[in-house]
Amino acid sequence: MQHDIQGIGMTSQRTRDRLVERLREKGIRNERVLEVMRTTPRHVFMDEAMAHRAYEDTALPIGHGQTISQPYIVARMTELLLEHGVPDTVLEVGTGSGYQSAILARLVPKVYTVERIQALLTRARECHRLLKLHNIYSKHSDGSWGWPEHAPYPAIMVTAAPETTPPSLLQQLAVGGRMIIPVGSVSGAQTLKLITNTGNGFEEQTLDAVRFVPLLDGSVR
Ligand code: SAH
Repeated sequence: MQHDIQGIGMTSQRTRDRLVERLREKGIRNERVLEVMRTTPRHVFMDEAMAHRAYEDTALPIGHGQTISQPYIVARMTELLLEHGVPDTVLEVGTGSGYQSAILARLVPKVYTVERIQALLTRARECHRLLKLHNIYSKHSDGSWGWPEHAPYPAIMVTAAPETTPPSLLQQLAVGGRMIIPVGSVSGAQTLKLITNTGNGFEEQTLDAVRFVPLLDGSVR
């Protein structure tokens, strides 16, 4: 975790502005999402040794075999979730570095996030505190089970890939709610899916080909 929020050189505001230009070129249109990406320091969520690469549009290692998602994917998934208006709450599965939840927390009133690796969650919480994001509620557990106490959710974002959509997450999706989730095998193809609870069932749209770390069972220290 980097305590220098401002950043210099490779982590400066100018470097961040260039990343946002790239996101725009790649097709991100939501101006609020772009502005939040521009003003949220991604380098804070990374180890010092990796911080100089924070504003490259790539996924990067955060330890424990996990990665911080690619900025384009973060922007894309956020934009999709907000396409039909701002939900009151979002459930995120896979806190990881805490970067995606930080982006969401600046766009929606309340974010719930679940992570199975305690060490990552502890670090993510420190970053959220440093950035004064007090509307993020997090829990150490296997997120395949969702977070039933606060369900149903108008929006769910899953940032690790299961082979099939976990039924508990479908159950916790409110009527009219949207879930964005990468589905597929680790070695083979994964696709981003947008699932809508119509009230009469679930409507599924298949979007981009993606590459996420796998959604795993159980939780670890
Ligand atoms: N949103 C994160 C992406 C992290 S990568 C970010 O912005 O950095 C995906 C994360 O999902 C990893 O931290 C991994 O430990 C976590 N994960 C995998 N399976 C999980 C599960 N069943 N429940 C909760 N978290 C899980």
